[in-house]
Amino acid sequence: RGNEVTFLVREKHYWGNVLPEENAKMIEQHIVENGIDLRLQTELDEIIGDENNRVKAVKTKSGEIIDCQFVGLVVGVSPNVDFLKNSSLEINRGILVNKFLETNIPNVYAIGDCAEFRKHPTGRRNIEQVWYTGKMMGETVAQTICRKKTAYRPGTWFNSAKFFEIEYQTYGTVPAQPDDSHAVFYWEKPEKKVSLYFVFDKEAHRFLGVNAFGIRLRHEVCAGWIEKKKHIDEVIKFLSDAFFDPELYPDYHQEIINDFNRKFNKNIVPAKKSWKRILEFLKA
Ligand SMILES: Cc1cc2nc3c(=O)[nH]c(=O)nc-3n(C[C@H](O)[C@H](O)[C@H](O)COP(=O)(O)OP(=O)(O)OC[C@H]3O[C@@H](n4cnc5c(N)ncnc54)[C@H](O)[C@@H]3O)c2cc1C
Repeated sequence: RGNEVTFLVREKHYWGNVLPEENAKMIEQHIVENGIDLRLQTELDEIIGDENNRVKAVKTKSGEIIDCQFVGLVVGVSPNVDFLKNSSLEINRGILVNKFLETNIPNVYAIGDCAEFRKHPTGRRNIEQVWYTGKMMGETVAQTICRKKTAYRPGTWFNSAKFFEIEYQTYGTVPAQPDDSHAVFYWEKPEKKVSLYFVFDKEAHRFLGVNAFGIRLRHEVCAGWIEKKKHIDEVIKFLSDAFFDPELYPDYHQEIINDFNRKFNKNIVPAKKSWKRILEFLKA
């Protein structure tokens, strides 16, 4: 529509509490290339209205006035459960559930964004507001309702999203700021907007997690590698097994291996994609 958009981001980087700097920078560039005036480290101070009580500008903390006709605020989510406060459902920040997603009232379950675990599943948070956990919770409760009482087991952390055309997936542990126990292998093809950010532990070189941008990875294979604590060398060697993109998409495996070998002084040769190996993960 040709509307000019200004995007204020309080932090140093876009989604800086989740994305490592390398990933954030690639997305920032993509946002700018899509015609958005991205302002990092810029915080909203005030929304200024006109005489009809309609927005006419915003003021930033540094005092800059930006004219506008519409303001979208995206500062996170919290369960919208106020309407239940006078009911007999036990609520805290969300509706409290046990590992079977049961509330305190028999035969009443809570799943998705509104659910809060009394005791968080191992390695996870009490409230997780992403689509795939909502879907898994739904599947879990469906089993229970169909007389197969089933506990919620979210497994390896996964999430996906899209930034304009760039698809994003994350598996396992990928901290925004890796600590001393983490080693990182980052590969990027800037002109294609594709990148992979691998995290493994410095001591045993076990694969801990990966962020993928512009390359779709196979869920079962990535989760399987993390759960089986695979060595990063093995992950890099068999990476073709994880590529989900259909035929005719560029195959970056050799390029990624060359970069890994150069950065870590290795001599790994790529293994050809094997459906036999992939099916083992799908069966597990
Ligand atoms: C802008 C945005 C971007 C997001 N991006 C991602 C992403 O990239 N990846 C990701 O994993 N997740 C993302 N999420 C989160 C994801 O959308 C949610 O986690 C998911 O939709 C939760 O599913 P749900 O069924 O619990 O709730 P919802 O999808 O919110 O469904 C709840 C439904 O209940 C209805 N409802 C509410 N109150 C009542 C009532 N009193 N009576 C009857 N019906 C009612 C609502 O209308 C709604 O249809 C995003 C969310 C937002 C807002």
